[in-house]
Amino acid sequence: MKYFIMFGPPGAGKGTHAAPMVKKYNLKHISTGELLRSEIAAGTELGKQAAALIEKGNLVPDEVVEGMIAQTFAKYPEVNGFLLDGFPRTVQQAMDLDEMLEARDEYVTGVISLMIPDEEIKARIKGRALIEGRADDASDETIANRIKTYHAKTEPLIEVYKDKGIYHEIDGVGTIEEVQKRVFAMMDTL
Ligand code: ADP
Repeated sequence: MKYFIMFGPPGAGKGTHAAPMVKKYNLKHISTGELLRSEIAAGTELGKQAAALIEKGNLVPDEVVEGMIAQTFAKYPEVNGFLLDGFPRTVQQAMDLDEMLEARDEYVTGVISLMIPDEEIKARIKGRALIEGRADDASDETIANRIKTYHAKTEPLIEVYKDKGIYHEIDGVGTIEEVQKRVFAMMDTL
């Protein structure tokens, strides 16, 4: 089983590029953001607690997303692997993921990192807000907090995965087609 991580700041295009990747490489896409949004839409207790955090641009607790990840791993035994999108997002989550995988004699195959500058993040999220209507895309304050949270809590993962020798960075600036070509070229080597 292969385990790929789609890494990058909010708005980098992780979800956009995950869709064609899962098709081409027969992977199961696990987006923690999407899983959380379906909990919110379904009005579950978990969803209600998550909504308050997400709308402010804060992270939900590690154990909440890790529970969702473990459930999804168990559900899809027939795929070639998984494409994790939006997880791990903290150093603790990365350590817990390693533990989860070690228990199955598995490990992270590769981290595909889509990099875009902060100014591009803001512009893209504002564009997306008009189309998707996500609550956490709506205010400048929330977007700024998501960028801050990314730098403080998620960016340190880059060093963690560089040290493991599995970090692969791709320039996320360009048309969707241009970036997709770069992503596929990288995936073909992994
Ligand atoms: P984006 O990458 O554009 O910020 P996501 O859909 O990946 O959007 O995530 C939306 C929100 O869901 C995050 O800002 C965060 O509040 C929450 N979330 C998603 N994944 C995680 C995670 N692994 N740990 C904690 N919170 C998460």
